[in-house]
Amino acid sequence: MEDKESEREFPAFPYKPYSIQMDFMKALYRSLDKGGVSMLESPTGTGKTLSMICSALQWVVDQKQKKKSETVESDKNTTNEGSCGLDDEPDWMRNFVANKDCQPNDNKIKKKKNGYGLRKSDKRRNEESCRDLFSRGMEKDDFCTKKECENLQKANDGSELNDEEFLLEEYESEEEEAIGSGKSKRKAGGVTISSSINEEEEEEDEDVSEEEEEEEFKVYFCSRTHSQLSQFIKELQKTVFASKIRVVCLGSRKIFCINEEVLKLGNSTRINERCLELQKNKNKEISKIKNLGAKGRVRQTKACSGCPMLKNHKLQKQFRSKISEQGALDIEDLVQLGKNMQTCPYYGSRSMVPAAELVVLPYQSLLSKSSRESLGLNLKNNIVIIDEAHNLADSLISMYDAKITLSQLENVHIHLEKYFGRFRSLLGPGNRRYIQTLMVLTRAFLQVLVNEKDENCVNQDAKKIGAKTGFDSSMAINDFLFSLNIDNINLVKLLQYIKESNIIHKVSGYGDKAASLQKGSALKDNGESCEETSILSGFRALVDMLLSLTNNDGDGRIIISRPRPISFGQQGGFLKYVMLTGEKIFSEIVDQAHAVILAGGTLQPIEETRERLFSWLPPNELHFLSCNHIIPPESILPVAVSNGPTGQAFDFSYGSRGSLTMIEELGRLLCNLVTVVPEGIVVFFTSFEYEEQVYEAWKTSGILDRITKKKRVFREPRRNTHVESVLKEYKQTIDALSDGPKEDPRSLSGAILLAVVGGKISEGINFSDGMGRCIVMVGLPYPSPSDIELLERVKHIEGLGDSNSTKPSNISSSDEYYAGDVQAGFGILRSCRRRGKEYYENLYMKAVNQSIGRAIRHINDYAAILLVDMRYASESSKRSCYSHPTNKLPQWIKDRLVSATNNYGEVHRLLHQFFKSNKNRGCQ
Ligand code: SF4
Repeated sequence: MEDKESEREFPAFPYKPYSIQMDFMKALYRSLDKGGVSMLESPTGTGKTLSMICSALQWVVDQKQKKKSETVESDKNTTNEGSCGLDDEPDWMRNFVANKDCQPNDNKIKKKKNGYGLRKSDKRRNEESCRDLFSRGMEKDDFCTKKECENLQKANDGSELNDEEFLLEEYESEEEEAIGSGKSKRKAGGVTISSSINEEEEEEDEDVSEEEEEEEFKVYFCSRTHSQLSQFIKELQKTVFASKIRVVCLGSRKIFCINEEVLKLGNSTRINERCLELQKNKNKEISKIKNLGAKGRVRQTKACSGCPMLKNHKLQKQFRSKISEQGALDIEDLVQLGKNMQTCPYYGSRSMVPAAELVVLPYQSLLSKSSRESLGLNLKNNIVIIDEAHNLADSLISMYDAKITLSQLENVHIHLEKYFGRFRSLLGPGNRRYIQTLMVLTRAFLQVLVNEKDENCVNQDAKKIGAKTGFDSSMAINDFLFSLNIDNINLVKLLQYIKESNIIHKVSGYGDKAASLQKGSALKDNGESCEETSILSGFRALVDMLLSLTNNDGDGRIIISRPRPISFGQQGGFLKYVMLTGEKIFSEIVDQAHAVILAGGTLQPIEETRERLFSWLPPNELHFLSCNHIIPPESILPVAVSNGPTGQAFDFSYGSRGSLTMIEELGRLLCNLVTVVPEGIVVFFTSFEYEEQVYEAWKTSGILDRITKKKRVFREPRRNTHVESVLKEYKQTIDALSDGPKEDPRSLSGAILLAVVGGKISEGINFSDGMGRCIVMVGLPYPSPSDIELLERVKHIEGLGDSNSTKPSNISSSDEYYAGDVQAGFGILRSCRRRGKEYYENLYMKAVNQSIGRAIRHINDYAAILLVDMRYASESSKRSCYSHPTNKLPQWIKDRLVSATNNYGEVHRLLHQFFKSNKNRGCQ
């Protein structure tokens, strides 16, 4: 521990590091030594990822080395003292070693608990429970002959509704006082249900992983998107650690799945459900075929169902060995390997976790507790690095939101009623009581969502506590439960029942079978009943809602969104639980891990993150480092543009941005920019709607034609799946048009991309070099004050630090019901004193910083950044106040901002000079 920090080296860094990179690596190393929480900020393009890899993994290697030499030393001096004997170790190491050495079975037990490698008795129990599962259509696959499938199908279709198949086994819960401990019993095993907080948390196939491996000390690295994780692996591959450290990359089924039949379902939820269902089907079909065998048919058992990509366990083992041999592989590599070997890369990579020293995974998988448990991620005394942590608090709490739509509620309620009607006389008292309770709940939820004009008890109650007219309202958990007269229901006990009784599958299975008999066949082309999926999804949503209602009263709010008539452009209604506090969630991570590192290009405002996520942490346990940018000052030109070419002041505030004058002046600005800016220009608008409005107006006025004479115009598509192809074409256009000498100066010279703040392009796409020579930010992307969820967060944050954090003193109590209009939102914002208002303002500047941070990705890159709105360029006295937008720019941009230009001519001159000098410098 005596290392001199000034002498510390990071030999894995593949180049000679710049001084800010050394500072970053040393700060990270120091943070790992100390433990606790650290926030490390380094602008994009400064080699942050590489610095993190080289510092964190060097620290791991050093600690292991230290431990090794100390063990050798201790072996020399100590003989069989029978203790863990690690007095000289730092706490984190002693604890970690103690976990491993003194409690050798802990990890194994944990793994079993977490679903990896079930014990035989568990497997048997699972198989038994799976026999109870409702019958669904068999999937037609390569491993079942068509005839056999047809025969089996006939056997299914021809059968009458079988009471026994869908009848719940009697359920007995223990006395009320035992409920808190979660104790209950039933007479046979069941299927685990869980909140869909995460897509991983599901019952796992018992055959997937049968091996139990020693847990390694780990670094967990997580980032937002799969492409960022792939980028991380690419950086890792530049270092020696790629072959020295055991790495595994995790991702969702949607990314990893190689079963075409499942993949074509499209969305994540359906892919997850289908994958899990296939594995349950495997057991179910074993049972059925055995039964058929009794009638004289004999055939092999396992081959006819389940996912074919998991049928051969040897292949899974070989998959793991291949990964170990090949070193760090990214998601694409793993998927390709899985395809080549015809074995599932999703489960293959998951089973690598225990042995891995570096686990690379998406946010969701690490930040959600249930997901960690499901994946078997043990944070105890390990290191957690969260990259792209600029909006961590909001990302974290949004994972705990829950939502159920009106149609899902109706569906669930109808199916419960049908089931109860059919089996009432056959069910025992326990089941009857719980099913009736579920029906009471769904009916109450439905009633609160129906039109306010309906005279029902719920709305009467709502009116009693001051409902305004309007479609959206919000309530605290307890108020919601009281107003619906369901406060006497023990939700913990009910959830326990749902979990253990298999009610979801029984009810949805019965509903599906009844429907299939009615229609003749419930099977669709893909072997799946859509209706069944929607029933299951509805049940899952209901369980999520019920789970949310067990949170503390002040942890979140219930949003009641009633269906809109067609004239308001939106159908449907929903109930949503919005989580407001992230402290408890984050403290679980901090308490377990040895060190938690939050890294990002811009992490400001630090204070807001601290207050929202770890206000309990003593200041000396929170470390913060902000690095400068490595680019020279002449490589960036940030300008606040207050006036357009004709002198018209730019004002893109809510009231004036729609005016044709403003839109046309913006068009003239673009017409000028395309003549002075080389290669690519990216223009960010505040919303898709506004971009559409501007585009159409330019088309009508002929401005678009003028722009397209110089640069080809591209637009960000609303659907994320189309973004890649647009970007590809945008890049190809720039590359093609920018190459070679221009004989005709009037010819095309690059491209322009119209993008949207908060869209895919603003978050995760790099516009290095020619892709983004100029970034134009149009207006200030304030979030809509009509967004009720946002206002709930504003109100909550306004109350942070007050004695009663859920009720900010300055905000009127009548805001429980919200008319959903902008003025009401502004009213709430005006009533905030500090934190709430700051949070709201920070939101739009975080979005601006994210968008403009897409450009300048390396030391030789250069770009101009134009902030187009007079509010960016107000007089210097106003700029000194913290809430001024330019004060929330990253320091390296703020330092160079040209904030007061008298006229557009000055902007044009600055741009002309900037591009000329950078071209002469030969920056590429
Ligand atoms: S087991 Fe793997 S390949 Fe098969 S459906 Fe599930 S994720 Fe897809």
